[in-house]
Amino acid sequence: MRLVTYQAPGGARVAAVRDDGLVDLCEADSRLPSCIKALLAQGPEAIGRAAAAMRSAAAIPRGSVKLLPPVPGPQKVICVGANYADHARESGVRPPDEPILFSKFPTAVRADGDDIVLPAVSSEVDYEAELVVVIGAGGRHIPREKAFEHVAAYACGNDVSARDWQLRKPGNQWLLGKSFDSFAPFGPELVTADEIPDPGNLEIQLRLNGQTMQHSSTKHFIFPIDVLIAYVSQVCTLVPGDLIFTGTPEGVGFARKPPVFLKPGDDVEVEIERIGILRNRVVAES
Ligand code: ZN
Repeated sequence: MRLVTYQAPGGARVAAVRDDGLVDLCEADSRLPSCIKALLAQGPEAIGRAAAAMRSAAAIPRGSVKLLPPVPGPQKVICVGANYADHARESGVRPPDEPILFSKFPTAVRADGDDIVLPAVSSEVDYEAELVVVIGAGGRHIPREKAFEHVAAYACGNDVSARDWQLRKPGNQWLLGKSFDSFAPFGPELVTADEIPDPGNLEIQLRLNGQTMQHSSTKHFIFPIDVLIAYVSQVCTLVPGDLIFTGTPEGVGFARKPPVFLKPGDDVEVEIERIGILRNRVVAES
């Protein structure tokens, strides 16, 4: 099943995607929550109930509503650095022996179709195609063998990065360089985990104005999803709706010769096999 969050008059509501439009799940079955985080928290049983409810309910035309980020206001946006060996090499770092984790502020999230806004204070904004893991059941100290029980869904993501802030501010400001508003678009939809039996073997691509800039497979992860979940949950409690951006393959702009950075008017597409295409346009800060 594919899930989105849309702006209803009373606030954000979760809907399932059907061929003829969107089905508001709480309207289709009042036992279902109206909020994506609550739905994800309820686990596979609620997803199954939602799948049954969406078949008979009336659909809302997709173009008639504003889509919000699939998880609006996630509590945590966790990111993995250098998780593909080819990208580590192009960035001039040795493939790590242990996961490199950092974070983005949740205010950076955006939906499919929203603009990526180039901040006036950066001239080196770059793209990174990434598979996003969405946490369902929360937990701490999750063992690797149970990690996938905590994964509710997947999405395409773009870990937009201001390289001048990330790499050349005092102390290397990864948090700030990755956290400008609009630097975490993801979507277009959440695809529930039952539809993605092998997330560690998905083709992933990024196109800039139609030209392929990154093309790889999640089979090249250095640290697979279950290892990442076990690792980070040693430190913090994962909660429903937390996002994990799992790292990007080679082909990013700053490692090219000459470098390629995003400019106003650019169209960026992240496509992941079985998941979809995330499209965002680049605009200057006004
Ligand atoms: Zn990244």
